[in-house]
Amino acid sequence: MKTLQVNIVTPDGPVYDAQVEMVSTKAQSGELGILPGHIPMVAPLQIGAVRLKNGAKQELVAVTGGFIEVRPDQVTILAQAAETAESIDVARANEALRRAQERLQAKQDNVDFSRAELALKRAMNRIDVGSGQF
Ligand code: ATP
Repeated sequence: MKTLQVNIVTPDGPVYDAQVEMVSTKAQSGELGILPGHIPMVAPLQIGAVRLKNGAKQELVAVTGGFIEVRPDQVTILAQAAETAESIDVARANEALRRAQERLQAKQDNVDFSRAELALKRAMNRIDVGSGQF
């Protein structure tokens, strides 16, 4: 089976580095499924999960923003933050979710509202990935 070299990198350093058979994630334009031999492309990502498949084995990485660069034999994701499922502190994410919900319920200006919405998305994504909800 052909594979892709996948690297997920953040400003704090590399988070994931492995050969996989398939990568799926959400670009801002919609779902992306990448197999070896894919045409080269660059796309902005949503806050979401990156699913890495090898046979029956599947790994998940929570990714916050950033870009995906696809080449026929390689996928690079440059993200503001990324965590493997095992490294996610679900209690911390639940706490971040609670704070974001409080801020969304309070009467605030639009800037604070948008920031709280993004914090909510990051927290929900981490909870989903960290508790294996994908
Ligand atoms: P919090 O309010 O809990 O810090 P946040 O959404 O503001 O959450 P970010 O600014 O997106 O956090 O991330 C800051 C750093 O903390 C990044 O390195 C990110 O990988 C890490 N991080 C954030 N939340 C978690 C979590 N629940 N488990 C593990 N690492 C996390």
